[in-house]
Amino acid sequence: MQLEELQSAFQQLGLQKYRAAQVYRWLHQGGVSSFEEMTDLSKALRASLAESFEIRHAEIAIRRVSKLDGTIKYLFRLYDGETVESVLMQYKHGYTICISTQVGCRMGCTFCATGKSGFSRNLAPSEMLSEIQTAQKDLGTRISNVVLMGMGEPLDNYLNVLRFLELVSSENGLNIGMRHISLSTCGLVDKIYDLADRKLQLTLSVSLHAPNDEIRNRTMPVNRKWNVEALLKSCRYYSDVTGRRISFEYAMISGVNDSDACALELASRLRGIISHVNLIPVNDVTGTGYRKSGEERLRKFTAILERKGITATVRRTLGSDIEASCGQLRRRNQQGGTL
Ligand code: SAH
Ligand code: SF4
Repeated sequence: MQLEELQSAFQQLGLQKYRAAQVYRWLHQGGVSSFEEMTDLSKALRASLAESFEIRHAEIAIRRVSKLDGTIKYLFRLYDGETVESVLMQYKHGYTICISTQVGCRMGCTFCATGKSGFSRNLAPSEMLSEIQTAQKDLGTRISNVVLMGMGEPLDNYLNVLRFLELVSSENGLNIGMRHISLSTCGLVDKIYDLADRKLQLTLSVSLHAPNDEIRNRTMPVNRKWNVEALLKSCRYYSDVTGRRISFEYAMISGVNDSDACALELASRLRGIISHVNLIPVNDVTGTGYRKSGEERLRKFTAILERKGITATVRRTLGSDIEASCGQLRRRNQQGGTL
């Protein structure tokens, strides 16, 4: 709830309005997970709040720390027993958390572990906030950057994600500014236009992964609804309206989308869009049959893009020893594998 909504809910219950601000502070800045912890409220008030409201938070079910780079992977358990993953990465400029927006995903990309495990439900804004708060508490320090790049398609849970963005960036909340937030989408074009018109200062990452419809239709079913041309048109609009650079994600899959011809086609299609391309050697996901491109291929692909004036970098891999990538840990946990 926004503070104003909490205030009016309190009034309706006959509670004093100023108490709402107190509770709001506990929830957002205190990161508490029960009314019991709100120690400056009377016992009676805490008990009556617990009767009328529920705090839905994320609990740590599994926590794994990478021996290679300190990346932490969380499997969070939600109020109904569902689980989602978050990853915490440490960079020079502070901590970045990658959070989930849905339990599973409906988009069915063929290379993605989350896509393979189906869809259960959307996350509520409070659950997304709680992923950050629980990790922050566990870590004992502030998290400065958030990427919506975990499980799920954020624009398929659009209204909850918008509300989350408002809450997480509000001054009396976690106060993480939009410039410190990235949202990754597989390309729900109608929502990209809507997001552009809101002129939020967040970074849009677009999972492109193919330079043409022939390849993209095979790997990303969403392309049959909005093809590459429609998607890139919306990206152009987004960067024109917001003045923000778009990040294109491109998972390099050996023999599928990593040829010289693909690099040339990609460069020509991205011409004129203020953008940056992140090349990611595809992660092995059991059952997909995909293999990552070799280093030489990655180098050649990058060189072609750069020669054509497109900036591109090969994404550094973090947490490769702890199944840090999208959907891997939850999938293994569901299948009853050893952890
Ligand atoms: N649904 C959103 C955000 C979550 S997926 C989206 O698709 O953008 C986060 C990123 O991980 C996306 O860029 C996605 O394409 C990528 N991804 C999924 N499976 C992958 C794999 N096996 N290897 C590399 N990247 C993968
Ligand atoms: Fe969903 Fe993104 Fe995975 Fe595609 S890549 S299935 S959109 S989470």
